[in-house]
Amino acid sequence: MADGRATELWDLIGGAVQDVEVWCNACGHHGVVATRGLIDRFGSHHLVGAVAARCRCRRCGSKDLDSRPDWRDRGPGVVTRHTPDEDRG
Ligand SMILES: [Zn+2]
Repeated sequence: MADGRATELWDLIGGAVQDVEVWCNACGHHGVVATRGLIDRFGSHHLVGAVAARCRCRRCGSKDLDSRPDWRDRGPGVVTRHTPDEDRG
């Protein structure tokens, strides 16, 4: 289903993207939600792509929504500041 590692809300904190974009497949309505607010509601390990399943379109009431990190303002030059702390042993 997902290609590569799924992005969690926590991954956005401290990264280049601070918001999650949610849009409606039924009517095209979309909005941007602050990641910190989502963490307060769902927890830091909630998947970004799963946020949509918890939302409903304010315009048409559809639950056919998608969500992703809001890259729009950042451009293609993604700076990865995440440094995995490998297990030692
Ligand atoms: Zn809609």
